[in-house]
Amino acid sequence: MIAQDFWAAVGNTPLIRLRRASEETGCEILGKAEFMNPGGSVKDRAAIGILGDAVARGVLTPWQPGTVVEGTAGNTGIGLALAANARGWRSIIVVPETQSREKLDYLRMIGADLRLVKPAPLSSPDHYTNFSRRIAEEESAKGPTIWADQFGNPANRAVHEATTGPEIWNQTNGRVDAFTCACGTGGTLAGVAAALKARSPKVRIVLADPHGSGMYAWATTGEVKAEGNSITEGIGQASKVPANLEPARPHIDDAVRVSDEDALKYVFELLSEEGISVGGSAGINVAAAVAVAKRLGPGHTVVTILCDGGARYQSKLFNPDFLREKGLPVPSWIRT
Ligand code: PMP
Repeated sequence: MIAQDFWAAVGNTPLIRLRRASEETGCEILGKAEFMNPGGSVKDRAAIGILGDAVARGVLTPWQPGTVVEGTAGNTGIGLALAANARGWRSIIVVPETQSREKLDYLRMIGADLRLVKPAPLSSPDHYTNFSRRIAEEESAKGPTIWADQFGNPANRAVHEATTGPEIWNQTNGRVDAFTCACGTGGTLAGVAAALKARSPKVRIVLADPHGSGMYAWATTGEVKAEGNSITEGIGQASKVPANLEPARPHIDDAVRVSDEDALKYVFELLSEEGISVGGSAGINVAAAVAVAKRLGPGHTVVTILCDGGARYQSKLFNPDFLREKGLPVPSWIRT
């Protein structure tokens, strides 16, 4: 099969059986290999969903001047910048300076106009999202511009409902008992949940959450309350439920909170024993899938998302100094 361009190469990722997690639980634990998207993460889907919608609404036209503006933990910006390059548009990407150096370097490498900001909660006017909205307003005065607005734009959730969810259903021949993943914008969880529940209301949807995020408390008690912190990037919200997560509420059956230690155990094990390199959010997801499988008991199929690859976090997750400083375990093969 020939994909005509970057846009057409996004999605249709393999569902990989995770051997150790499956053996540990007596279930089939399957990871959707989103790190295999052409921009390297699950957020390539959101990028083409949002930009495709902008074209359909006449906001942007391929090969006519256009500017894409977004605030992002990095991956959405990478997807948007590459998808914009493939249509002749420019991109302005706002990222908190705390994100991994690899993602910032990658954004510069692919030609995004990168603007770094200090980290702030989603409810603050200084949050990268709100900062990027102001830039988009300024740019709109100069020419066709889209503020991608991944947290609020329903095209983010819709693309997962149209692609990720149906792919999971078809790849498992409808034999999926539970789906779990952590939320940044909530687009993946809400979209996949809508698609799976429409096919079988019996599929259990489980929200996974790192420490430092209030989404576990929101899903279990209705109140957003955060404790602790996490080194993971792109997931978790401390203070506010994103608009793209809100519609998932009636679909969420359960929630799991995962520590960085547990997430890293799976990140390191997947790499050294299964040859699968993933980032921290995928580690949270796999740990959550194991917890869900243990709650369900043997013989079930649990699907999760392998959001992006480990190379995006070499300077953190695979850096002994960084890990020691955080009091986290260092993998044996990089101790020296
Ligand atoms: N993992 C990583 C590494 C991400 O960058 C993101 C997106 N911020 C997610 C998971 C969460 O995806 P979503 O925005 O669809 O909830």
